[in-house]
Order: sequence, then C-alpha cells, then structure tokens
Amino acid sequence: MRKPGTDEQNVQMSDVLCDFCHREWREDVPMVEGHHGSCICGNCLSLAFRSVMLDKVNDAPAEWQCPLCLEASADRAELGRADEPGWPSPLDPEVVVCRRCIKQASGALHKSSDYDWRKPV
Ligand SMILES: [Zn+2]
Ligand SMILES: [Zn+2]
Repeated sequence: MRKPGTDEQNVQMSDVLCDFCHREWREDVPMVEGHHGSCICGNCLSLAFRSVMLDKVNDAPAEWQCPLCLEASADRAELGRADEPGWPSPLDPEVVVCRRCIKQASGALHKSSDYDWRKPV
C-alpha cells in the first residue's frame, strides 16, 4: 500500500508500506509488490510462509480477497482452489495473503541476490 498523500509520479521508498504490518520499505527489508501497489515485506512473508506452508494453519476468514493477486473467494473456487489457506495480517485480519502468492513471493525472494532472505525451514 501507499502512504496517504503519496505523489504517484514520484513514489519514494518510504511511501511504500507493507499491506500486512504497515512498515515502511527500507533497504534492509525486502518488499514484494502485488497488484495495485500492494506489498508484502520479508518479515510478514516469513511469518506467512511458516504459518501456511510449514504449520499448515489456516486462520483466514470465510470470505477474503488477497490484495497481492486480487483473487477473492469466488475466484479461487472457480479455479479449483476453494480451500486454499491464507495468512491474515496481525493488524487487520480482513487483509489475507493467499498461499499461491506466499509461494510465488517467497520463491522470488529466496532466489534474489539483492537480499539474504531465505525461506523458513
Ligand atoms: Zn510486513
Ligand atoms: Zn494472492
């Protein structure tokens, strides 16, 4: 997400906030962008990966839309992923990242040479 009042023509690093913990983007915290300026930071991604991929927890509400890929419950159902778990933001349980985005974002960050982020084990 963008900080309120961000100049879209001149977006600074500190204007970019994680949708899940609302921290600012900094050099030492990787950020993965989704649709419409949505973002998840490396810290939240680690928590999400641990919860959904390792602990197989599903704390998502009954109906939710992933801000990164914009897929809602109905979209996932249509794609045969109705039961897909998600990870809700600790600040706002209505903001939930889907497992597919967790997988994609963590795969990309894990391979990126810009950051030393690694998938939790
Ligand atoms: Zn975050
Ligand atoms: Zn998603």
